[in-house]
Amino acid sequence: MTERFRRHLLLISAGLLAALVFWIDSIAEYNSAISILYLAVLVLVSAAGSGNVVVRAAQVCVVLTILAWAVVHLHQPSVASALRCLSACMAISVTAALLLSRKRLEATKQDLGSSRSEVELFANSVPFVLWRSNPRGEIEYLNESWTTVTGLDRWTVLEGQRYNEVVHPDDMAVLVETVTTAVANRTMTDLKVRVRQADGSYRWMQIYDRPALSPLTGQVERYGGLSDVHDEVVAKEELQQLRKELEASNERLEQRVNERTTELMRTERRYSGLFDVSNMTFAEMDFSAAEAILDQIKSRGVTDLRSYMTAHPEEFARALSAIQTTRVNDALARMMGYESVSELVASPTAQFAEDGPEVLLRQLEMYFYGVDHIDGRTVLAGKDGRRIPVYSTATRLPDGLHLSSYVNLSDQERIEEMRQAAQAELARANRVATVGAFSASIAHELNQPITSMLMDAQTGLRLVARGSPEIETLTRILQRVAKTAQRVAAIVQRTRDNIVAGRRAVKAIDIRRLASDTRDLLDQDLKRADVELEILCEEAVPMIKGDPVELQQVFVNLVNNATDAMRDQPDTRRITLAIAAEEVAVRVRVTDTGPGIPDEHIEKLFEPFFTTKATGIGMGLQICRSAVEAMGGQLTVTNLASGGACFSFDLPLALKEPA
Ligand code: ADP
Repeated sequence: MTERFRRHLLLISAGLLAALVFWIDSIAEYNSAISILYLAVLVLVSAAGSGNVVVRAAQVCVVLTILAWAVVHLHQPSVASALRCLSACMAISVTAALLLSRKRLEATKQDLGSSRSEVELFANSVPFVLWRSNPRGEIEYLNESWTTVTGLDRWTVLEGQRYNEVVHPDDMAVLVETVTTAVANRTMTDLKVRVRQADGSYRWMQIYDRPALSPLTGQVERYGGLSDVHDEVVAKEELQQLRKELEASNERLEQRVNERTTELMRTERRYSGLFDVSNMTFAEMDFSAAEAILDQIKSRGVTDLRSYMTAHPEEFARALSAIQTTRVNDALARMMGYESVSELVASPTAQFAEDGPEVLLRQLEMYFYGVDHIDGRTVLAGKDGRRIPVYSTATRLPDGLHLSSYVNLSDQERIEEMRQAAQAELARANRVATVGAFSASIAHELNQPITSMLMDAQTGLRLVARGSPEIETLTRILQRVAKTAQRVAAIVQRTRDNIVAGRRAVKAIDIRRLASDTRDLLDQDLKRADVELEILCEEAVPMIKGDPVELQQVFVNLVNNATDAMRDQPDTRRITLAIAAEEVAVRVRVTDTGPGIPDEHIEKLFEPFFTTKATGIGMGLQICRSAVEAMGGQLTVTNLASGGACFSFDLPLALKEPA
């Protein structure tokens, strides 16, 4: 039976009952008492219809009651019957009113029920845990999300008030304290704690709980909830961590930048200090504008800058005029004869050197080919046409700047002149020494022939004094004197040949003889130094070509050096002068049993003025080397494995005279 059908049935029954009551009431004289039955009609109508229908039904019932009274009593009305009719009408009205109010009550109840389930539905459909707690903070209601989030049954939790169990132990203290304070002061709770989830993990959740006056109970209750803010908290923590790291690295960076800046400033100060007060000459030029021109040239596919500039002089002039001297120091101005730096800067850049454009072209090439450093010789054009030969270096700095420095070679050239003078003087001194040594040897050599001549002369004189001398004997004596005199003349001639200064005579030399002559020459010195000089030479060694005076000077020098080297040596002091014939030359080796040459000296040995002796002048070996070179050989030095130095050179053979 459907609801509608039931309602129709009830309404029809009510209608029928009303009709029956009216019929009985109007035909039978029951004094309206029967009309009380209309109440049953109203009850039926109220069970089936709305409030309005009940009101209508009540009106109809009242009309029917009055109508039935009129039918029965109007011809003979009585107060009693009218009162009964009235009380019946009132009973109907009161009943209708009661039914109506019950109906309204039911409707309200229904509304209440539906709105309650609506609230419940709403509370359970939001993705937050929601609760209501009493003024003491004890939770009395939890929505279904609680179970979804924590995995715990909400009713069990509520029963035991065990909702705090899901809070992370580390957050418990702060939670209890915050909630207690908020409840006591009736203030809001706003706090983030970690809450254990259904899967056992903890997630950060925001607790929001605030007091509110309940319209139902009239008491202050608390309404609150939990929302998942885990991702936000983690992201924030990561962000903070990142920020900390960034700050730290920023700090480090700043520190580095500061340090670097200080260092740079120090370098800059040092650089400019060096620049301004240095005795070294410096010029700083700005090539940046010229480099832009070079870039254009390069972009045209030019690979040979020099040829290009030669072919395009106007372009070259343009590049040169783009170069600017930005800074020069006092030392450079002084070197070039200017009073001040400003006087120098005023003159055009390309005119600072005799071959200024060439120097600048080389500097342009540095950029063009990516070279950082060049050097070379040039002549600076100073004030009033002053010429300053210099050794110049140019270095590329950042930002198109070039730093050049010039070393004045005027002094160096003077030194070179002095060196040459010293060498000539030394050669002369050496010859004088040789003369000295020769004098001794001449005295020695001449002593014997002169003594023999003297004796011969005395014998002749004695024979003459005795009278009638034998002509034959006298002739023999005079012949011997003449021969001895010839020998003396030869000795003198040879000596003269040897010592005449400046006469370099290349001739065939009997080197074996020269060697032994030298030993004779130095005999006294060698004895004093306790040095043994051994000459190793085959008898048939071929003649060589050279200047005998110079070659002897070489021998004397090498032997003297070896003697000096062994002077403080307790054990054997031996010099060996070995002469050996080779295919086209004779090889000479002068070795000693001294300490040899330290490795660090070996390179410098032949440099002028290199000496390790307190009284040395360091020219001997240089002169030897040039003498040997002049004769077509090469003087070199090595250390012997057995210790001691070995100086050696080859001398070319003297070609046989064509027959
Ligand atoms: P000086 O004799 O005036 O020093 P030299 O040019 O002749 O000039 O020699 C240069 C240096 O070479 C000497 O001072 C010495 O140190 C070194 N030297 C030359 N010969 C020898 C040698 N035989 N053994 C060791 N050192 C030598």
